[in-house]
Amino acid sequence: MQQTTSTVSKTQQAIALEERYSAHNYHPLPVVLDRGKGVFVWDVEGKRYYDFLSAYSAVNQGHCHPRLVKAMQEQAGELTLTSRAFYSSKLGGYAEYVCKTFGYERMMPMNTGAEAVETALKMARRWGYEKKGIAKNAAKIIVCEGNFHGRTITIISASTDPDSNTAFGPYTPGFITIPYNDLPALEKALADPTVCAFLVEPIQGEAGVFVPDDAYIGKAIQLCRANNVLFMADEVQTGIARTGKLLCSEHSGERPDVVVLGKAVSGGMYPVSVVLADNAVMEVFTPGSHGSTFGGNPMAARLAMEALEIVKDEQLAAQSERLGAIFRSEMQKLVDAFNYVKLVRGKGLLNAVVIEARKAADGSPKTAWELCLLLRDNGLLAKPTHGDIIRFAPPLVITEEQLMECCRIIALSVKQFA
Ligand code: PLP
Repeated sequence: MQQTTSTVSKTQQAIALEERYSAHNYHPLPVVLDRGKGVFVWDVEGKRYYDFLSAYSAVNQGHCHPRLVKAMQEQAGELTLTSRAFYSSKLGGYAEYVCKTFGYERMMPMNTGAEAVETALKMARRWGYEKKGIAKNAAKIIVCEGNFHGRTITIISASTDPDSNTAFGPYTPGFITIPYNDLPALEKALADPTVCAFLVEPIQGEAGVFVPDDAYIGKAIQLCRANNVLFMADEVQTGIARTGKLLCSEHSGERPDVVVLGKAVSGGMYPVSVVLADNAVMEVFTPGSHGSTFGGNPMAARLAMEALEIVKDEQLAAQSERLGAIFRSEMQKLVDAFNYVKLVRGKGLLNAVVIEARKAADGSPKTAWELCLLLRDNGLLAKPTHGDIIRFAPPLVITEEQLMECCRIIALSVKQFA
């Protein structure tokens, strides 16, 4: 019998439509979001939640930040897209702003994180041929096991995650894979004179918030420098104050040759990504060698400047550092109290808790997924990754009071999980 609309909830309707017509390339938690403001999102039934995913760290500035809404509304009535066939009144100022903010000589504007990573890979290869003198088509790029840099064919060719790369071959050649957080392995790989770059996340976010040893990134940068190899930091997830500094690589005290940014560059209002490097590297790009119709468009430029200004004005890096330490100490109490809460790790407000998967008395599974359903019921949204890990990454505008309330929600849910 066909159900009438009155007996089917708005939630069920929305889920059914998405399941029926959208490709099944995600496995969303069953909640249908409709509205957001700051640290909160509301579902279609009007229930409010703390957002502890922040669109995978894209909404660091909080949902629908009033300054971003205003900038978007104003720019929407002025000019949105010109393509790079012409100059625009917004791109130059944005380019200068972003270069000065992060301390690089040049930027390449793109849209998504994956596109920016692709940009960095192309730049590194051409630099390898034109500047380092690597033989034609022989350039190699070192990547790490467990990496996540996006999902294009070339990027998944560098991935070790079967979810990302199974049955998508033939793969792009030219990658050397080494274990993460392993300096001797890096040193060995760098000895190959055909290596042009090392692409690495300062913290592996998608893999489950794996934080390397304190010295790892700094020493890796030094090793790359000594071997005339570009160190390319993929800060798409870790950048823009998420880990307690504007860039996560700042914790190392060393400067990457190339920085890749996305997500929170626009505060989640619009797809904006960027690659930063100095002239000696970026100058390998010549007209026609790279580009994107939408890259650096006036809307993107305006929003990104505003979004980065918000991070400075609201001191979100310091906020992330301070509240992150409080969050981990609260989570450590749960680790100490419940044997199925294995550990907490992270930096700033990019954290993960590892849950031991169990079975309930009736034999049903009790994994990180079930805990996330309890969290949802208690008013907090988080998403499991790799079965047993829950990433906790709220918008950085969260207050200490709100964070403490969230810690109580997590503690309650962990107790119910027993
Ligand atoms: N690089 C890192 C470190 C990421 O975490 C992500 C996305 O999660 C990407 C690249 C890809 O970004 P996008 O999904 O915008 O293509």
